[in-house]
Amino acid sequence: MAKDDVPRAAQTPSRAPTEIRKSARRLRIMYDRLVDRFGPQRWWPAKTAFEVVVGAYLTQNTAWKSVERSIANLEARGILSLDGLRAIPEHNFRELIRPSGFMLRKAAALKAFVAFLDAQYGGQMEALRRAALDNPPVVRRQLLALFGVGPETADAILLYALGAPVMMVDEYLRRIVIRHGLAPETAKYSEIQALAEQAFAPNRASGNPEDLARHCNEFHALVVLIGKTHCGRVPRCEGCPLHFDLRKSGFRQPLRIK
Ligand code: SF4
Repeated sequence: MAKDDVPRAAQTPSRAPTEIRKSARRLRIMYDRLVDRFGPQRWWPAKTAFEVVVGAYLTQNTAWKSVERSIANLEARGILSLDGLRAIPEHNFRELIRPSGFMLRKAAALKAFVAFLDAQYGGQMEALRRAALDNPPVVRRQLLALFGVGPETADAILLYALGAPVMMVDEYLRRIVIRHGLAPETAKYSEIQALAEQAFAPNRASGNPEDLARHCNEFHALVVLIGKTHCGRVPRCEGCPLHFDLRKSGFRQPLRIK
């Protein structure tokens, strides 16, 4: 079996498989509870797949409100499209995305994405989407090789722009799993992603990638919802829909993040 075929949970040796399975079960119960309470989120405010890509880059280290201002600038100039981005000189593009910060880096990174799409996929988002659905790990590696793309941006593009069944990890999910003792504070991105993937292993086994992608999408949306309403820098556990898990697991309060 190639390394990529080994479930990632098994590639992260810091915790025993039984412990990971137990944590994954708890995480799944937490997700089911949130779905019951809040229903489908149908998340990511964008009109096209390419707009999702632009948002995924612009939101790095920036609040979404600032991204909206940059996107409004791009829309007003009629360049929120692949053709628009190909045509605009980089120095002009930088000014339009100034509100979302790091404009030098983000402008260069988005230009690099368009160059990659043109070189590898004939400039077609649809061709990239087909490749991502066919073999998500290969496209993930290609995205990660691009300037300015880390795991969170690559996974946001795969999931929300291309519809691939990929789990996204962000700061909100990291806080929740650490505070609930589901992963150690030292857990890396890949370790938390493996935990989330394990929580949805039955959906993966059912062989319906569209259904799995829907769960990945909803899971991330619900995590963000809890992060914004309760599990921010300072946890507000009272009234939090996930408090039941702390009580059931015998925690009197969330584990502290240093
Ligand atoms: S606010 Fe408290 S109960 Fe809610 S997810 Fe965070 S640690 Fe858990």
